[in-house]
Amino acid sequence: MTLGLTIAAHFSVPFGYVPGQTLGSVSGARRQSETEGAASLPAAPAPMLLATTIRPYEWGSVTALPDLFGVAPTGLPQAELWVGAHPAAPSSAGGTPLPDLIAADPHGMLGTESAARFGSSLPYLLKVLAVERPLSLQVHPSAAGARAGFAAEQARGIPLGDRARTYKDPHHKPEMVCAVTRFHGLCGFREPAAAADHLESLAVPGLEPWIGELRAGPSGRALRSVFTQMLDERAAPVRAEVERSLASRHPESVHAGIARDHPGDPGVLASLLLDHFVLEPGEALFLDAGVPHSYLGGLAVEIMANSDNVLRCGLTPKHVDVAELVRVVDFVPAALHRVEPKPGPDGEVLYRPPAAEFALVRHDLSGAPHVLPRGWPQAVLCLDGEVALAGGPVLRPGDAAFVPADAPACEITGKGTLYRALPGIGA
Ligand SMILES: [Zn+2]
Repeated sequence: MTLGLTIAAHFSVPFGYVPGQTLGSVSGARRQSETEGAASLPAAPAPMLLATTIRPYEWGSVTALPDLFGVAPTGLPQAELWVGAHPAAPSSAGGTPLPDLIAADPHGMLGTESAARFGSSLPYLLKVLAVERPLSLQVHPSAAGARAGFAAEQARGIPLGDRARTYKDPHHKPEMVCAVTRFHGLCGFREPAAAADHLESLAVPGLEPWIGELRAGPSGRALRSVFTQMLDERAAPVRAEVERSLASRHPESVHAGIARDHPGDPGVLASLLLDHFVLEPGEALFLDAGVPHSYLGGLAVEIMANSDNVLRCGLTPKHVDVAELVRVVDFVPAALHRVEPKPGPDGEVLYRPPAAEFALVRHDLSGAPHVLPRGWPQAVLCLDGEVALAGGPVLRPGDAAFVPADAPACEITGKGTLYRALPGIGA
């Protein structure tokens, strides 16, 4: 795949097929140029091939996405493939950013119901994550919190690109990860008694006051107090002892790995309070506002509300605003919110978390055609095999397309795996 090599060599810039190089495909660009010559005829809405962006965050795997897409690695991390219309890295069709195409025809692109509910922007953002090292320990704001936080930072005149900027947009960011390979991470607080047991197993005298607090309760207040103290710089001597204990007593543990990757980081302590989860391929986890989490390893498809609002607690060189973070975190021990996949016809599997903005469908295609529903803005992403969209492009691993709401009923055929994003209210 010569073309794939070109894609990989430009990991940090938008990539995609050049119109005319994709056999049997009709890219957005070609569709546009064809309609220019026939101004009297309205453009027939059709699935459009998307040029997407891979973000080179340092925690990303150097090889996982290239292996998945069948291209050569570049030697640099390739952390997240973004498919969507978020202003930080919008996908484009035929050279035009998706947000501009949507703005030109919001009802045709998004459909009446999505536009009425979410306005003239795509309500979700679809990603592939390739996690090699821990992501920052983070939490996402509620809808009201994001609106207020964004307005406050705008009023204070903090530029959007500023390092000290916390709120990148006015939206909340519920998210769901769906494992492609075995995928693991930390999510949500342990029960305080279990957290106390965990701390006790480290046999570090400096942890004893926190163990006492966690055992004394009440649970929410104890978690808030201990979590906040753990993030304070005054905890540095205890943190150093904990790092030594993890290395000697539990060298193979998840937390020892975190400490090796982020020595001296406040997140090493705070992460001891969180639950560890493992998703097998096909399993999914929903993360709502206020739930602290960090992904640690594996490959996953992630879908979220169209937002980039992340408040970080640690395991990162990026901006950390502890006061704002502690305000946003929900100090409640909560069981993991797994999303049960629902099998449908023709090898279809639906993941429908409690988020109005998004749902995810996986299509395991084995040759039989399948007709996509109409009336909703749908982004599709191929991760295996080859899948053709009727009236649109042929997708291979790593390729994405957008199916406008007013496109005629779109039939997909081929052998492979396709992920399809749509608003949750349409699933
Ligand atoms: Zn997150």
